[in-house]
Amino acid sequence: MPLFFFLKNEEKADNMTFMNKKTYNIFIIGCQMNKSDSERIAFSLESLGYFPEEDIYKASLVVITTCGVRQSAEDRIYGLIPAVRRKNPEVKIILTGCLSAEKLVKERLGDSVDIWMPIVELDNLPSLLGEDSLGGHERDYLNLKARYESDFSAFIPIGNGCDNFCSYCYVPHARGREKYRDHKEIINEAKDLIKKGYKEITLIAQNVNSYKSADIDFPKLLKMTNDLPGDFWLRFSTSHPKDMSDELIKEMGECEKLCHHVHLPAQAGDDEVLKRMNRKYTQGHYLELIDKIRKSLNKQAGEIVSGFWMPPVAISTDIIVGFPGETEKQFRETVKLFETVKYDMAYIAQYSPRPNTAAAKMSDLVSEDEKKRRDEELNDVLGRYNLENNKKYLNRVVEVLVDSKNSRGEMIGKTKTSKTVIISDTTKSRKIGDILEVKIKSVKNFGLYGEINKDE
Ligand code: SF4
Repeated sequence: MPLFFFLKNEEKADNMTFMNKKTYNIFIIGCQMNKSDSERIAFSLESLGYFPEEDIYKASLVVITTCGVRQSAEDRIYGLIPAVRRKNPEVKIILTGCLSAEKLVKERLGDSVDIWMPIVELDNLPSLLGEDSLGGHERDYLNLKARYESDFSAFIPIGNGCDNFCSYCYVPHARGREKYRDHKEIINEAKDLIKKGYKEITLIAQNVNSYKSADIDFPKLLKMTNDLPGDFWLRFSTSHPKDMSDELIKEMGECEKLCHHVHLPAQAGDDEVLKRMNRKYTQGHYLELIDKIRKSLNKQAGEIVSGFWMPPVAISTDIIVGFPGETEKQFRETVKLFETVKYDMAYIAQYSPRPNTAAAKMSDLVSEDEKKRRDEELNDVLGRYNLENNKKYLNRVVEVLVDSKNSRGEMIGKTKTSKTVIISDTTKSRKIGDILEVKIKSVKNFGLYGEINKDE
């Protein structure tokens, strides 16, 4: 997904000569963390006099934030980089993100990449580009300023890296051990965003709930952010089930600004598979967590609170199908998990081996056809239960934060439970970034359809 930061036309014209010399385009592959990192890269580049360029083939500098989670994400750079170089031989290419230190990737791409920059070296960008340092050297890249892509919704990174070494995952090898940001820096960034009128703030890290800074842990950080004065929606992502403590679940139920959507990656339903994935929990423990989360966050579910219907907490997950050695019987445990939890959303991935991971050395591989079949079966189960969940929204009035418009001019947004809503209203006065009062008129497996509440 490309990230562009547009200048006003007058600014563009004034700076045209300069822009021809130093322009940048950031191409993002992968997760929210890469998106957040790219906002910090953009700010650093603009501080060095670079201007955004919408067309990747015209930019003098192209930054690619890579993803190592799946082979398909890695494969994208092998097509993209030669294409960019072919169309613009003078371009300078920086490769950052999860694959920036991967030996095999370096061997394969060789000289077609000018600068290999692990994201933790972002503070070193001026010297990598042969530019003068801007002064005020900041060693922790998370504390560098960001050029937010959106003017109403922002990610605040609270840490980087992971200590968990799930056997299939490349992230700890790519991003290194967990390192967390000082809570005062996080709170200051949140205060600044709220002052600017941001309506949605998401605290992100690979594993938010193992956050620690001095005596501040994640439940405390969540409460501190929630208690900041202002009217905003608060979210966090991503949680590891083994670190989802009772204290955090209790705090989540008491934070009135926290959106009632919890993403809790299960990865598999079978205990033996979970063990080989090195996930350090069982299906039983995971289900207990879901139960506690629902008890804590559903206290007012179904009631009208401040004029809006309070939906039950939405639960989503990540799942890998076809992990090495996963038998049909073990896969049925994942199906059972889906039938028990009745997820609102699931990101289902067909296993692919990643370099240097423990799982890449495992034998007894599941065939590609079988992975595809399991993926499709889970999607069917997901769709069925999601429709059941979505039907609860029929004729209810909910708040929707508009984040885009479709080709028909209809607004598209999300509820606090992260349900996508298409609003049949093309009135020009409503705009992206508005929070609207919407009555849900119809539902499908993966979406809600509504109209502006006439009683508004
Ligand atoms: S918790 Fe596991 S899956 Fe998540 S980033 Fe860490 S190693 Fe990867």
